[in-house]
Amino acid sequence: MKLSSRAHELFEAFKLDGCPVCRLVLDSVYHYLDSVIYEYVNKPATHEAVRAARGFCPTHAWRIQHEINASALGVAVLYEGIVRHMLKDMGDITPQSNRRQVMQAASALEPRQECPACTHQRIVEEHLLRNLVDYLDQPGFAGAFRETDGICLPHLRQALEMGGNPAGKAHLVSIQQDIWTQLQQHLAEFRRKRDYQYADEDMGEEGSSPRRAIEGTVGLSGIR
Ligand SMILES: [Zn+2]
Ligand SMILES: [Zn+2]
Repeated sequence: MKLSSRAHELFEAFKLDGCPVCRLVLDSVYHYLDSVIYEYVNKPATHEAVRAARGFCPTHAWRIQHEINASALGVAVLYEGIVRHMLKDMGDITPQSNRRQVMQAASALEPRQECPACTHQRIVEEHLLRNLVDYLDQPGFAGAFRETDGICLPHLRQALEMGGNPAGKAHLVSIQQDIWTQLQQHLAEFRRKRDYQYADEDMGEEGSSPRRAIEGTVGLSGIR
């Protein structure tokens, strides 16, 4: 089986639980955020972009706080610049400022561009999804994908909205339908076994189906 490096990453991620695209994207965004925070002196363009976005979006800002806050210094340097620019752009507002000045301050607070980590995430997602669709014509790759929990609904929709490769997309949807058919059966079985009449039956594979259903519809925790 001959795979691109991205397809190979996917193939390895097929061995893990949950949407393989989410898993690789979470990892890539982690490294992106880590480099922005740790190499704060070397990334003036990225800092400019983060200031223009008025900071990272809630998902990515909280990932920094929870996962990368070992470098509180990097966070301090980055966010000092964000707060300083917000204050400067708003102008001096006093209790006597008129409505127009307050409205100007309000519009100055609007982000002027998207969260740079979201931009990075979207590029990585598109790249991974394109590789997923393109390599399904390789039986070994398709067979390994079939054994996974499938990709999450947001990533499936994103894959289908991309241009090109209608045959690859049909293959993706058909595998995904088989995976969701099994998920639906597991959920129904879970429900049946929770009925008091069958309460003495042990849970099997269906035991994890409620969590898999949540992950399957929104993606892995931390992705959005
Ligand atoms: Zn996903
Ligand atoms: Zn973001």
